[in-house]
Amino acid sequence: TLSDRLTSVLQNLRGKGRLSDADIDATCREIRIALLEADVALPVVRAFIAGVKQRAKGAEVSQALNPAQQVVKIVNEELIGILGGETRRLNLAKNPPTVIMLAGLQGAGKTTLAGKLAKWLRGQGHAPLLVACDLQRPNAVTQLQVVGQRAGVAVFAPEPGNGVGDPVDVARRGIDEARRAQHDVVVVDTAGRLGIDEEMMRQAADIRQAVQPDEVLFVVDAMIGQDAVTTAEAFRDGVGFTGVVLTKLDGDARGGAALSVRQVTGQPIMFASNGEKLEDFDVFHPDRMASRILGMGDVLTLIEQAEQAFDAEQAEQAAQKIGSGQLTLEDFLEQMLAIRKMGPIANLLGMLPGAGQMKEAMAQVDEKHLDRLQAIIRGMTPAERADPKMINASRRLRIAKGSGVQVSEVNDLVNRFFEARKMMSQMAGRFGLPGAGRGGS
Ligand code: GDP
Ligand code: MG
Repeated sequence: TLSDRLTSVLQNLRGKGRLSDADIDATCREIRIALLEADVALPVVRAFIAGVKQRAKGAEVSQALNPAQQVVKIVNEELIGILGGETRRLNLAKNPPTVIMLAGLQGAGKTTLAGKLAKWLRGQGHAPLLVACDLQRPNAVTQLQVVGQRAGVAVFAPEPGNGVGDPVDVARRGIDEARRAQHDVVVVDTAGRLGIDEEMMRQAADIRQAVQPDEVLFVVDAMIGQDAVTTAEAFRDGVGFTGVVLTKLDGDARGGAALSVRQVTGQPIMFASNGEKLEDFDVFHPDRMASRILGMGDVLTLIEQAEQAFDAEQAEQAAQKIGSGQLTLEDFLEQMLAIRKMGPIANLLGMLPGAGQMKEAMAQVDEKHLDRLQAIIRGMTPAERADPKMINASRRLRIAKGSGVQVSEVNDLVNRFFEARKMMSQMAGRFGLPGAGRGGS
């Protein structure tokens, strides 16, 4: 498997300072194979790997991960980003009804999706109406009626016995009916063909033109692999669409089609279908798809665990130092950077249980002030950070000049640091942190 290959390519080479080009190339080679095996289109793979290489070459080596893991992490993050990062929500009309039109090849799963969407929309508090505009296949209308009944929603269909009706007309009348019966969302099911076909495209384009949908969802079977790209391009040019729905993800498709379609058309994947039942449906989750494409869920879990373990180790070390009163300004800076990476300080404190008073005090800390503190500490030599007691008057003057602040600010920081260290050591004693009560000042 890919993860075996990766591990044999690179053994633990922790903390080398920077990822070597050879490390990156070797890992990227393996990932390229994984992407191609997952049916991602070649031009998409090429562009993607080039982007990853560029990012990996500038990256610092993580202390927690070996180079292969680190490249995998970057690849995973980039994949998630390209797959949409956050899920795009349905575009709802300001003046209901919202019209959602489904388009795609025959057998892609449109009619099934209509039922799934209807059920899901109902769960979201909407009152959907399904409109049967597939008048091509003999029992397509009945199929939608059955699906609608299962989902517990109304279906608008042309009266039987009038010969082959006009789908554009049915779509229009369906929307009138929705207005009349106060449905706030209309899902328009359309006809597909086995292959890309001009007449089908024209019909879908005519429906789109006539009803001006708020969303046109291109429904594509994830199992068709590379063909997904040509089909998506044809629908993009022939009908146009605003979002993509992947179906049959319960099959053994590796999901490369998703990445290709997303990249080639630039439209977001919004929903995913993974079975024949109405419940087998969800909004699209880029992270799950990324891990499926890479086919290395286990490696990704390992990476996460390694990072968490490393964080825990660091936190433990910091706690030791706090408890024994040996905290240095270097630690202080590290902690500050770690915390700031996680977002504004006030938010972070909001997550701590019982941090009431401290929270109030810290809520007043403004981020600009933190920037200045950071600059001051950066202006110190390593020796000064490790042993702040040596920071005498002339050193303070030098630090102030170097970091562009007043001497009084440096004084302030150093004094407060000593106070804080003393206080934290006492608090650690009370809360029984490891190392508490052992020496220190
Ligand atoms: P349409 O021609 O685009 O309307 O496609 P249908 O909705 O009629 O679906 C074609 C076939 O695919 C049916 O047998 C469905 O039960 C099946 N199907 C649809 N979505 C899924 C899915 O997500 N997983 C699986 N396994 N089958 C699906
Ligand atoms: Mg159908």
